[in-house]
Amino acid sequence: MSRKKEEWGPHTHCIICGKAIPEGEKTCSKECSRKYEEELKQYKKQQKMSYLFIIVMVGMILVFFLASYFARG
Ligand SMILES: [Zn+2]
Repeated sequence: MSRKKEEWGPHTHCIICGKAIPEGEKTCSKECSRKYEEELKQYKKQQKMSYLFIIVMVGMILVFFLASYFARG
């Protein structure tokens, strides 16, 4: 009898450990939810850093461009 799978109904999986959990939930336990929040924080930090990196790069290119523009006269 492999009908048990159908009894699960709509469900999703814990984004940390992959356990089956009710739909609408993100994590299966407080431990996983804590890990998830930590990962989210890390991710946001990384995103901020990459934005900063892009801004610095664009700024440097702009400065370089302006410097060469004014150097030519
Ligand atoms: Zn989990």
